[in-house]
Amino acid sequence: MKIKSAEFVVSNSDVSKCPKTRLPEYAFIGRSNVGKSSLINMLTGRKSLAKTSGKPGKTQLINHFLINKNWHLVDLPGYGYARVSKSSKKVFQKFITQYFSLREQLITAFVLVDIRHEPQPIDLEFMQWLGENGIPFSIIFTKADKLKPKAIENHIEAYKAILLETWEDMPNYFITSSSKSIGKDTVLDYIEQLNGN
Ligand code: GDP
Repeated sequence: MKIKSAEFVVSNSDVSKCPKTRLPEYAFIGRSNVGKSSLINMLTGRKSLAKTSGKPGKTQLINHFLINKNWHLVDLPGYGYARVSKSSKKVFQKFITQYFSLREQLITAFVLVDIRHEPQPIDLEFMQWLGENGIPFSIIFTKADKLKPKAIENHIEAYKAILLETWEDMPNYFITSSSKSIGKDTVLDYIEQLNGN
């Protein structure tokens, strides 16, 4: 899919105030500093559509962007900013869980995971929660430029081993690097395919 237009629509922390249109939407979420803003900017080809920041936990709102006038890209707040995550209830703010529970337009969520780290409890808990609530999701591994191919493979295998303990299938996953522009077309083509264009 070619991105012809990308416009900011609205930011809020109340799911009832999200755009009322029935356009399909795709949500991007992950731990603070995972590289979400950089990924959104890479996908849309806009340098600063999403605000990148060295300061984790800065974006605390649900941000809607209208892409090609026919779907919404949703930038959700980074979770797990608390250094020690006590429980998923505390770190996944209520409005995030409300967003996922109430937003019927949501086609799929992309859960971003930094490829450099072993599977982290907070990410696994979040995927578990999505799965239990019947919310479709894919995994986007970020910062792939930081690891050699073999290490990338090992980390993905580690995720597979854990996820397949609970679920029958491994979710779709994508390997990306915003610095090296890796994975852009694959993610956009996947969205296009789900949009039925
Ligand atoms: P966010 O908090 O999840 O929105 O993360 P940002 O997009 O602001 O990125 C956090 C930090 O990771 C910044 O210092 C980025 O430069 C860096 N970063 C983001 N994506 C990549 C990537 O693909 N490769 C590398 N090497 N660094 C990245």
